[in-house]
Amino acid sequence: MSQEWNIRSRGHVCSLCQKPLVDRAPVVSALKETPEGYERFDCHPECWKTAEKDWEPFSQWDGVYLAPVKEEKKEPLKKEDAGELLRQLVTLDDPAMKNVVYVLAVMLERSKILVERDAKELEDGKLRRPQAGRHLRHSRSASPA
Ligand SMILES: [Zn+2]
Repeated sequence: MSQEWNIRSRGHVCSLCQKPLVDRAPVVSALKETPEGYERFDCHPECWKTAEKDWEPFSQWDGVYLAPVKEEKKEPLKKEDAGELLRQLVTLDDPAMKNVVYVLAVMLERSKILVERDAKELEDGKLRRPQAGRHLRHSRSASPA
């Protein structure tokens, strides 16, 4: 199964009316879950409000469209870029991006890009993992309940 990257960078025209987005004007972005992946929408807020949609966005957030200073490369998102994007999103710590961060993390994990670092091999060959909440699995108490 090959997973295509369908989360594009922000478009420069409204995904609904196909007219150009206005520099420094509000834009509504949304992710639509499709069988092929996630389709990104960037729209005028009015178009988003008035358009008839037969789907619920997987994630939706408000932003401000900034016209590109330079012509952006039209290359599809590479997996390496996705890792970098994920790092940037995590740094932003934006609650609105939580779903996106989650999707990216899952995709990267499936692509085996998220390599568990910092795991050190001990002398007896066991791996010592760094202290992280989800890895802490203490043995259950042996006392009867
Ligand atoms: Zn529009």
